[in-house]
Amino acid sequence: MNAEIIAVGSELLTPHRQDTNSLYLTEKLNDLGVEVRFKCIVGDDLEALTAAAKLAMRRSDIILFSGGLGPTEDDLTREAVADALGLKLQRDPQIIAQLEERFAKRGYKMTPNNARQADVIASAAALPNSLGSAPGQWIAGKYDGQDRILVLLPGPPYELKAMFETECLPRLRARIPEQHIATRILKMAMIPESQVDARVAPIYKTYTDVATTILAGGGEIQLHLRCRKDSQAEAEARVEELAEKIEDEMGDAIFSRKGETIEQIVSYLLQMRGMTLAAAESCTGGMLAERITSLSGSSRYFLGGAVVYSNALKTQFANVPKSLIDQHGAVSREVAAAMAEGIRKRCLASYGVGITGVAGPTGGTEQKPVGLVYIALAGEEGTQIVERNFPGDRQRVRQFSTQQALEMVRRALL
Ligand code: AMP
Ligand code: MG
Repeated sequence: MNAEIIAVGSELLTPHRQDTNSLYLTEKLNDLGVEVRFKCIVGDDLEALTAAAKLAMRRSDIILFSGGLGPTEDDLTREAVADALGLKLQRDPQIIAQLEERFAKRGYKMTPNNARQADVIASAAALPNSLGSAPGQWIAGKYDGQDRILVLLPGPPYELKAMFETECLPRLRARIPEQHIATRILKMAMIPESQVDARVAPIYKTYTDVATTILAGGGEIQLHLRCRKDSQAEAEARVEELAEKIEDEMGDAIFSRKGETIEQIVSYLLQMRGMTLAAAESCTGGMLAERITSLSGSSRYFLGGAVVYSNALKTQFANVPKSLIDQHGAVSREVAAAMAEGIRKRCLASYGVGITGVAGPTGGTEQKPVGLVYIALAGEEGTQIVERNFPGDRQRVRQFSTQQALEMVRRALL
């Protein structure tokens, strides 16, 4: 079975409000083995909503509406779905009584517009709303000879979630054949997406029963594998087999297969080896330290370091000789290496990281353009330096730089 989510609300078409309900609903539907094939956001407009409902009924088995069930003029989901189905709305006296009671309890008199919330589509079951006033509606029937389920849910996320869990999940479970889903998330750092895909696509394409998606961002590539079968064991076996083949191809490039972050992996490896890390950061301004220390327990392996933004502090805190900066410039292979070595020594760490570069958007020159970053890692066995030209804005250059540093630490520890 497949599903479609229609998020209703003009505010969701502005930059000020985001549709988060559909993310929640998608996760819940996926857990049931139902794939969401379409999502749609529609403003508070009867004609547009009716058209969206009609289209959804043609192409989707389950259609979930979020929002537009309140008492105000702009709440039109009930009317639109009734129109799309060619059914009438009937005011339910029992719901009216419940609404009146709800207002009385709070010491208010119910204004007449609230009665609209008691308008139930003929053939629908009203779904009680334990946290708000607007009931939901559940409609199951045949349209154009096809089985369809339409569910109207309230917009406020806490109301929608409560109603979905208590009212919809049991009804959906009763109608959806039990399915079992296994997933794997394989992560890689600092490899171009196209390179990963060129290598793994020939493998995953032969697994037509495993949905494979590549997601890229922030210097990380994620391969999401997902398989649905009649038994959990069958689904697990299938994703495992594909994951292993991809791992054979990509080797050490894969740093995580259970969704761990690269910070977590670096943490495991440093602790396993009983090693420590320190960092001298210039253009990343402490972002690497921030990422590492976002994990609880990081004091076991991260000693600390320094944000050495000025040349003077590079010398003072990271032992970078002034002459070296004068000779090569603060953004240079030599200074990055000296920063890594200096901070390692000063902190008595197993590994020292040095990062220096031009994060931009200003400060670039022809020889040293924006995005040029040197990342150095100093250890007992010597110092390695990577020169990168990162694309993007200041935030991206800084993110990539820390990602590169973490990847270098990880590889050094393998
Ligand atoms: P409504 O049921 O349309 O009156 O929506 C009530 C409130 O719920 C809105 O003002 C939004 O703040 C919130 N809301 C509605 N739809 C969504 C959505 N798709 N995602 C997150 N919040 C929503
Ligand atoms: Mg609304």
